[in-house]
Order: sequence, then structure tokens, then C-alpha cells
Amino acid sequence: MTEKDNRAARPAKRQPDLNTVYTINPDGSRNMLQVADVKGRWTTRKYFMYALLIIVYVAAPWVKVGNHPLILVDVPNRAAYLMGATFTNQDFHLFFFVLIGTGIGLFVVTSLFGRVWCGFACPQTVFMEGVFRPIERIIEGRRLERIRRNQKGGLDKTWRKLLKHGIFIFLSWNFSIAFMCYFIPTREMLHLVPFFPGSTTALIWSLFWTGLLYFDYSWFREQTCLIICPYGRLQSTLVDYDTVIIGYDEKRGEPRHKGADKGGDCIDCRRCVDVCPTGIDIRNGLQLECIGCTACIDACDDIMDKIGKPQGLVRFDSSRGFETGKSKLLRPRFFVYSVIILAMGALFVARATDRESFHVTVLRSQGMPYTIEDGVIRNLYTLHLQNKSDSARVYFIAPADDALAGHEGVDYIIPQGRVELDRLSDRQLTLFAMMSRSSYTLPEDFHFAVTDSISGAVQNIKVRFRGPRPARFDS
Ligand code: SF4
Ligand code: SF4
Repeated sequence: MTEKDNRAARPAKRQPDLNTVYTINPDGSRNMLQVADVKGRWTTRKYFMYALLIIVYVAAPWVKVGNHPLILVDVPNRAAYLMGATFTNQDFHLFFFVLIGTGIGLFVVTSLFGRVWCGFACPQTVFMEGVFRPIERIIEGRRLERIRRNQKGGLDKTWRKLLKHGIFIFLSWNFSIAFMCYFIPTREMLHLVPFFPGSTTALIWSLFWTGLLYFDYSWFREQTCLIICPYGRLQSTLVDYDTVIIGYDEKRGEPRHKGADKGGDCIDCRRCVDVCPTGIDIRNGLQLECIGCTACIDACDDIMDKIGKPQGLVRFDSSRGFETGKSKLLRPRFFVYSVIILAMGALFVARATDRESFHVTVLRSQGMPYTIEDGVIRNLYTLHLQNKSDSARVYFIAPADDALAGHEGVDYIIPQGRVELDRLSDRQLTLFAMMSRSSYTLPEDFHFAVTDSISGAVQNIKVRFRGPRPARFDS
């Protein structure tokens, strides 16, 4: 059998297609990608962006605005800080506006420019392509070197793998701490690292996040985007004929042909496939796996330069642009989404700036609605008072001036009419309202007034006084 016959007898190497996920083998095992290095204008812009975002993602909890972290979710105190503003659990409804606004914002960006978020700003991509993959390349070499080393095995492969995974674990631990700073104030975190003395919960969380990040960036990688991320799955419903995506100019490239002298401009060199971090062939059209990372653009532009053809065989353009050469960026959905975002933003700002500095609720105590003793009807209430401000406050609690006016024998017992509360703390208090039975006719609403001694703000909380049905209504 000749060498040519041998080659013909070998099973053909699997290629990315539209019917299967290339990174998973037909038997269900993982097809680990060895992604090739690429240089170019988009890669340069991307690395600049990654560096900036890594600084932002890591530094955000350390930056102070008005004495508070730029962003912090303080779970034990049921509070959150965002750009200098303080939010408590009572402000949770505002989260709805943020969530809807952010979601629609992502819709707008996706409908205009496809998955630029995934390719340029998502932490999964930023840390994978901006930190972990470059380190892998430095230690294990470029794509062909890595493949060769992995096949050859031996000491050379072993020490490189050990070094790489050691650094990955160290970085994962550091990034887990950076992530936890979004939930633990940085001044506390400084006392906790590296051994988390006296805080087993924080230690367990740090081990959990370290393990998760290490698993993700060392092995799971693009599977996070393909299998777990819901946004990628939504993409097909968000893009349309005019969305600017990364695509292959089929009209110009086909028929692809080895050699630049005949056929279309695509010389079937497969560079665009080798550099793809999700293992797809962009020439098969827009696919769910494409994270818009632009690596294939730079790879193909480089090839075009080398064969003396114009760049842009793979480029940012809309489906309309690829077909007709014309583009239409602003469409009705852009305006609809924009109006919704503006409305959500306006509602958030209006509600956030209009929040009270303390929150009061009064509930009738559970059990009997009232008791009667010596001809006096007694109602029992539980008042919940929460200081939502950033400083200790003193509050005064009293019945409103006109409470149950016109009735005889009205009296109140407020065991703690003056309440001191630390910042963001709360307390439950018991209140009594009483009225002589002879004066009671029907259930009647009245108010307790709670006054903030510093700001002078008053909240009147409505409650209902109840008693027995008067005898004259029973006849
Ligand atoms: S890099 Fe360009 S020329 Fe090479 S296969 Fe991809 S599209 Fe064709
Ligand atoms: S097809 Fe191109 S843009 Fe999409 S993920 Fe692959 S390399 Fe990135």
C-alpha cells in the first residue's frame, strides 16, 4: 500500500460544521481546542479593552465614592452601595428597573452590533483571552508547539503543565478574592486574606470560587459560552438582517480554492478556524457559538495582506451589507428599545432620589385584634423602624395630633417614644392604643407619627383601631 493509499484509508479529520458542536466529540468526550495566536488591529484594540476592564473589574470595590465603595453588596447588613448611593432591602424594587434597563440595553447593543459584549467586555472572555490564554501560550508555546508537546509527552510537557496549572490556581484564588470584594468590604478583606482567620464562611466561599474559576479557565473554557450562558442562546432572537455581525463575504470568497490565482478570494487556509476560541468555521455563516471576538477578522486580513488581496473577506457587516453592499443601522426596534431604556433609567433615578431616609411599618399584633379590660378597649401594634441612612439617627414616635379625636378615654402607651438607631439598623417596637368601650362605635383609622430628629422628616403611618360590635348594631 502506498503512502497515498494510506492517507486515503485514514478517517478524515473532523471539521467544524453546522450540525454538531465541534468542541464535543461524537462519543461525548471533549475536543480540547488549541487556539492559534493572532495579531491585528482588532486584537490590539481588544487587548487594550481587556486591560482597561480588568483594572475596572478588580478595582471597582476599592474605589470610594462619598465614603462608600463604588459598588458593594453588603449581605449581612442587607444593603448595597452603588456610585455613592446606599440602598437597603426596602429599596429592592429599584433592582427591577436596573435589571430591565440593563437587559434591554443588552438587547439594543445586540440588535445593532451582535455579540460585542461577549467578545469585548464579558468577564469570561476578558479573563480567558486577556490573562489565562496568553499565560498558556507563554508557558506551552504557540499552537503547533503545544500540539507537538502534548503528543510527545515527557518531562518537557510535565513541567510546563505543572507550572501552568500552578499559576492558574494562584490567579484563580486572587480573582476569587477580587470577586468577593464585591460582597465583603475591602477593609475587612484585607484582614481576612490569606487565611481567613475566624471566618470559615468566607474561607469556604473563597475555596469555592477559586475552584470554579480554575475549572472554568483551565478546562471548561468556551463551554461556558456554549452551554451555560443564556445570552448566547437568545442571540438568534435579537439579531436581524441589519445587525452588524462578524461574517464571511461568501460572494467574494467563493469558490474557495487552495492558491490565490483562481477561484474566489478564500484560499481555504483555515487560519480563521484555527484562531477561533469556540472552534467554529465562520465561513459556515453566523452560528450560536460565535462570541464576536474578531480573531477571525485579523487572521483573514493577515492572509489577504500576504496574498495581495484587499482586507475584509471576514469583517463586521450586516447580512444586508454582505448581500447588497448597503447597510441600515437605525431600525424601529432600536428606537423602541431606547425609549424603554430611557423610561427605566428615568424611573430608577426618580425613585432612587425620592427615597425616604427611614422606613416604618406598623402591623396589628398577631392573635386577638383587641382586648377589653375594665371597660377599656386595647389594641396592640408592632412597629418596625429601619434607619436607611449612613449615620446614626434618633427618632421620636407619637400618635398624630388628630389621632382618634372626638372619642373619650383615648390613651396610648409607647414604651420607647425615643429610639436611637445605628446606620442601616432596625428595631421592632410595641405600641398600644386604648379607648373607653362606651366611646367606641366603629373601626376607625388613625396615624402614628415617626419623626427623624435630624432631618425633621415625618412619616404618618395609618393603622386601624378595632373594638367589639356596639350593642345597638345587634338589634
Ligand atoms: S482565513 Fe480567510 S482565506 Fe483563510 S480560510 Fe479563512 S476566510 Fe479563507
Ligand atoms: S467565528 Fe470569529 S468572531 Fe466568532 S468566535 Fe470564532 S473567531 Fe471569534
